[in-house]
Amino acid sequence: MTRYGHWEPVIGLEIHTQLNTQSKLFSSAPNRFGDEPNTNISVVCTGQPGALPVLNKEAVRKAIQFGLAIKGKISQVSRFDRKSYFYPDSPRNFQITQYDYPIVRGGFVTVELDGEQKTFTINRAHLEDDAGMLKHFTNFAGVDYNRAGAPLIEIVSDPCLHSAKEASSYAQALRSIMLYLDACDGNMEEGSLRIDVNISVRLKGETSLRPRIEIKNMNSFTFLEMAIEAEIKRQIALYTDNPTIPPEKLIEPGTYRWDPETEQTVLMRRKESADDYRYFPEPDLVPIVLTQEYIDDIAQNLPELPQDRYKRYINDLGLTPYAATSLINDKDLCDYFEAALSLWSSPRNLCNWITIEFAGRLKEAGKTLLSVKIPPAHIAMLVTLIDQNAITGPIAKAIADEMVIEPGLDPQTIINRNPDYRPMTDSSELIILIDQVLRDNPQSVQDFKAGKEKAFAFLVGQAMKLSRGKASPQKVNELLRAKLQNL
Ligand code: MN
Repeated sequence: MTRYGHWEPVIGLEIHTQLNTQSKLFSSAPNRFGDEPNTNISVVCTGQPGALPVLNKEAVRKAIQFGLAIKGKISQVSRFDRKSYFYPDSPRNFQITQYDYPIVRGGFVTVELDGEQKTFTINRAHLEDDAGMLKHFTNFAGVDYNRAGAPLIEIVSDPCLHSAKEASSYAQALRSIMLYLDACDGNMEEGSLRIDVNISVRLKGETSLRPRIEIKNMNSFTFLEMAIEAEIKRQIALYTDNPTIPPEKLIEPGTYRWDPETEQTVLMRRKESADDYRYFPEPDLVPIVLTQEYIDDIAQNLPELPQDRYKRYINDLGLTPYAATSLINDKDLCDYFEAALSLWSSPRNLCNWITIEFAGRLKEAGKTLLSVKIPPAHIAMLVTLIDQNAITGPIAKAIADEMVIEPGLDPQTIINRNPDYRPMTDSSELIILIDQVLRDNPQSVQDFKAGKEKAFAFLVGQAMKLSRGKASPQKVNELLRAKLQNL
């Protein structure tokens, strides 16, 4: 029995991702977040009479890249439509979108969830332009048209998701693909990726769908999961408490929002139907016609995608699935790892130092390797020194502590200025130390001679301790074993 009992949630996501092109979808106005209100605008974005849209080729290229990345079908002919609605953030009173003929049809993403590979399918992805933003002040509201006309890809999944966790993993996988393509900055706080959730529940075994509702504009994965969980609970409770009322009377289609204060989904408006939008072909734009040659060219130049990288890390680099996942989920960190790897090919150790040792040291202060600007070359140098047994584990850790405090310093400089970090490699020095350990622990020596291997490890430990971590464990091992054999 799963957590939803004999109920099965059915979830589909519509994800709007803002493309990071220089200019907007239909005009040369800058496509940039955070500027003074109404500075990045043109006659097109503000809907001036007679202003004509001109399609941004770069946005089309990124849409094709995305379609290829999800192994969807790229339409050689697609078309724009007008979606009519009145709202102050849309000065034209219609949005230019793709309705009947989207640029991408089908596709899928595969995610790893609780140790299992799951595949989620995508129905379509289309190009459309964004609306402006309403800003509410104490006594008035203003409209900022800087975002009006920004290029979006809307990605519509099939209703193939059956839990909050699945929905959020799917959305994270798409965000990751966008980042790897360098098609979207993925910044959810700034609204570069916004998620609408369509959700219904039904009894397990039912084949038809019950009425669904939509939750709009989720801008964090945590809220997305919370909202879905709350809505599943609400719908199940409605059905359970009212067994005699037909589903379509109980769940009226509508648009909801998530209220993080009350942790409830809140009704905003009853749902418009497609008819209300009066879709019709956009007369000011010609259809997008693509040659197969153009599509093939983009396909051949696709960058490495998260799933491919994941497979390479496991099959070629020997990373564990856990380690590979922790790297690929963070594109910037993953590129950082790649940079270090190009200098010193020791994938497991580099991954360990990047994702565990340094991440751990920086986490408490809310920092990362990238934010404190420790160059990947310094990590590569540290791991090189470790791998070549030039420094011991404890010393490496002490050096890492100092690298975090002074991010500009490389490990060799840190070693050079501190004699304590210089490893004890001189055999005669080590033999003196080992002789003392043997004198101090006669019982362990006897135990070892009686065949107890554990006693050997203990003696190595004592020698390491006596050297204050400066002796190379390999060297101590060698010398100690030789010494014991001659006793
Ligand atoms: Mn849309």
